[in-house]
Amino acid sequence: MAIGSPTERTLPPHLAGAEELTQRLEVDPAVGLGSAEAQARLAEHGPNELRPKDPVPLWRRMLAQFQDPLVYLLLVAIAVSVTAWVIEGAEGAPVDAIVIGAILTLNAVLGFVQEAKAENAVAALATMTAASSSVLRDGRPTELPSAELVPGDILLLSEGDAVGADARLLVATGLKVQEAALTGESSATVKSATALSGEVALADRVNMVHKGTAVVEGVGRAVVTTTGMRTEMGDIAALLDRTEQQPSPLQVEIARVSRTLGALVIGIAVVVMATLAFVQGADSAQEWVTILLLGVSLAVAAVPEGLPAILSVVLAIGVRAMARRNAVMKHLHSVETLGSASVICSDKTGTLTRNEMTLRTIVTASGRVELSGTGYAPVGQAVLVPDGDDGGDDDDGDDEALLVEARLVLIGGSIANNATVTEQDGQWVVHGDPTEAAFLVASSKLGEVPERIGHYERRAEAPFTSERKMMSVLAHHDDRAESRIYTKGAADVLLGRCVAQRHGDEIVPLDDVARARITQAVEELSAEGYRTLGVAYRVADEGEAASPDQDVEHHLVLAGLVGIIDPPREEARAAVAAARRAGVRTIMITGDHPATAQRIATDLGIITEGGRAAAGVELERLDDEALVDLVREVSVYARVAPHHKLRIVDALQRDGHVVAMTGDGVNDAPALKSADIGIAMGITGTEVTKEASRMILGDDNFATIVAAIHRGRIIFDNIGKFLRYMMSSNLGEVVTVFFGIVLAGVLGLRDTAAPDALVVPLLATQILWINMVTDSVPALAMGVDPEIDDVMARPPRRPDRPILDRPMWARIVFTGTLMGAVTLLTMDLFLPGGLIEGSESFDMARTAGFTTLVLAQLLNALSSRSAAQSSFHRMFRNPWLWAAIGLVVALQVLVVHVPVMQQAFTTVPLTGTQWLVCLAMASVVLWAQEVVKLAQRVWAGRGPAPLDDAVGG
Ligand code: ATP
Repeated sequence: MAIGSPTERTLPPHLAGAEELTQRLEVDPAVGLGSAEAQARLAEHGPNELRPKDPVPLWRRMLAQFQDPLVYLLLVAIAVSVTAWVIEGAEGAPVDAIVIGAILTLNAVLGFVQEAKAENAVAALATMTAASSSVLRDGRPTELPSAELVPGDILLLSEGDAVGADARLLVATGLKVQEAALTGESSATVKSATALSGEVALADRVNMVHKGTAVVEGVGRAVVTTTGMRTEMGDIAALLDRTEQQPSPLQVEIARVSRTLGALVIGIAVVVMATLAFVQGADSAQEWVTILLLGVSLAVAAVPEGLPAILSVVLAIGVRAMARRNAVMKHLHSVETLGSASVICSDKTGTLTRNEMTLRTIVTASGRVELSGTGYAPVGQAVLVPDGDDGGDDDDGDDEALLVEARLVLIGGSIANNATVTEQDGQWVVHGDPTEAAFLVASSKLGEVPERIGHYERRAEAPFTSERKMMSVLAHHDDRAESRIYTKGAADVLLGRCVAQRHGDEIVPLDDVARARITQAVEELSAEGYRTLGVAYRVADEGEAASPDQDVEHHLVLAGLVGIIDPPREEARAAVAAARRAGVRTIMITGDHPATAQRIATDLGIITEGGRAAAGVELERLDDEALVDLVREVSVYARVAPHHKLRIVDALQRDGHVVAMTGDGVNDAPALKSADIGIAMGITGTEVTKEASRMILGDDNFATIVAAIHRGRIIFDNIGKFLRYMMSSNLGEVVTVFFGIVLAGVLGLRDTAAPDALVVPLLATQILWINMVTDSVPALAMGVDPEIDDVMARPPRRPDRPILDRPMWARIVFTGTLMGAVTLLTMDLFLPGGLIEGSESFDMARTAGFTTLVLAQLLNALSSRSAAQSSFHRMFRNPWLWAAIGLVVALQVLVVHVPVMQQAFTTVPLTGTQWLVCLAMASVVLWAQEVVKLAQRVWAGRGPAPLDDAVGG
């Protein structure tokens, strides 16, 4: 029997006693599993995943490369060609069939390699973004990928954790779990470790936690009972259809374009074949086969079937580069959305600021204490500035009172505290919340405080949440035989809970005048950019001592205020400016005081001096319509709770914005889900936000978001480049063949040596060679092109605007037609008759045409790198492109000059001069585009002012 699977006689985990269960699961709850045992169980139960994917064997994946209607068509054509060859006596080798087969295989190998590359990148992303769980293994708390959880693991749960497997609680303290995904119940369920009896519905199994749910409050310890598909979530997953990922807008667009082109080109191919058959006449089976192959190849050539593969590779390479720079995207296609983000809603603390908190000033009833020193090193001096320091006799008394109050502030702030500051290799390192660490550091700068704290024994805690904006600890003082509640929190919020104020050794009731004074002090500190907290306390009641509930913060005595600095990140200011230049607005959303938010936002250039900040309470009063108006105007939101974030996202989206939004706490998850790009903090973020987001910020840094948008735009631009390149190249092939046949008479495309023979401007093998080999190499290189146009000088791309817009189509048609024209003219140039008189053989002329087309495409690759800039601009920045060009030229030299290739592609050698003529003709494509671009640039220069001026503050 497998461990953990209940037999008929054993009770289900929620009904079993905790001890019985851990025995059954063969685990010591104080130590957890040993790693060897865990490995063995993992092998037995398999990974803890819903619907683990079956690996597809290599041969299947290779075969899948041939599964394309156009390839089927080609295969049919090859079969027909071989049959004809057999019927005609099987003389020599069926060259066309062999060559086409070889090209198809080469194409499949290329596709296979590209697919593998993209898949590897996706797999790497999956590991980077995999959910993790805290467990006890070998007696130590260990963080491991949730996929490795096994029955018997001891889960350590805390706020913000995504529950990794189904587990029975052993201990639960204030544990609340959001189980909506499983039970549909929207409010969080209070959990406990108590035993249950009788039939209990899933939603009422309070002693269980389930995979796919989230811890919103408290802590707990649980033993894993089932994993993977055997969990409750697994049951649901088995019932539901596999939710395939939706194709991205770009994928949809490319599929649509491919379909339309496919239909169009099959039409053209039929016309071409009919024209050839009826106008020129096919005399032999071989000629019929040639016509068929040509028609099919043309259809294959014109449809950009290689695009989706190239698209995936380009996205994969781009996403990997982004991950290296701390912006980890969960899905390749989110890059598209990132490029069109028009607003970034960012938290303040840690994202725009450094989250390095230094407590600088303490304000109490008797005055102010200034502390020197930076960072977390406990070195610094305290300077007392008592109010009314008039040099009189009583100044010592003022100092004394001030010192008593200031110490109390730091004692309270250090007791209501969960952080630690330790020295590691000469560096002071913070574990826990930096705001709390600031109190500890300050305490060591103001003598006596650490010793006094030592007398207290911590008994219980009412934890901090972004909604409450404060936290309290109940601590017992043995000598005094009393318990006190110490609270610290947002000063303005805390003041509402205070009834008195500490004045030296006395407690003075707070009247309106005192309140007004304190509020003014809060405003002043905040306006200087300080993070302003208050510290208060009260003696706990008898009965309270055992378990303070969350409403302990009442009838408090205010000890004083503190001002903590958290300097803006140096790079954030430049990033805000870069975003603005790119038409992306930065919005700051913070739980902090409006005045602090305003100061920092002004320093960072998010608003101008005097710019407005809206407070959370203000949002409460507005309906959705009014909120849309507000978000248009206001870029700083302060004292907000997580549910306000959701409303801000909705309002921005209603106003047509594509919203990127950051978040870290568990309650941010809904806003992150609803944003177009939810961004979770990699360092401080909870598992739940990481699950809800599309991007994880490795360094929690705002500048990284802007850099990712920049990169996203470059990637998108590169997609545009190879689309422009491939589509115009394909069109060039179609134009060559179509007009080569239709205008054969005008252009003198005739084989004078065999006047009755069928005239095809390009052979099927040549078309396929161009399309499947020489086209795709530069296209791939273009996918990793560096920035050519200044992508951050443009407004964000509108997501509903097709990438293949009108100007793009116009350019494609222009270039493709030109490419076909120069190819045909080159042939005419070498052939007798037509527009230009020549004297070469038809095979030579066709070789020249074929070569011209290949060269024209290479030059078109250079030109396609920018719609507006000259091809010579940053011409040598992409070594891959030059390598691709070099490779294709080398291949063409082989095709033209190596005998076996000449046989395969029906080519003849060209002289040096003939090569130069081909190059000169091909270069017309480049020059013509240069002229068009120059005209456009001149025209644009006369147009409206550049973007920098257009997008204001
Ligand atoms: P952001 O939303 O940009 O991260 P924030 O850190 O100020 O900003 P919250 O964490 O929601 O947002 O904090 C809100 C307020 O609660 C803070 O301005 C501060 O006054 C207070 N506060 C923050 N941390 C603590 C803490 N550990 N204990 C008590 N009060 C705190």
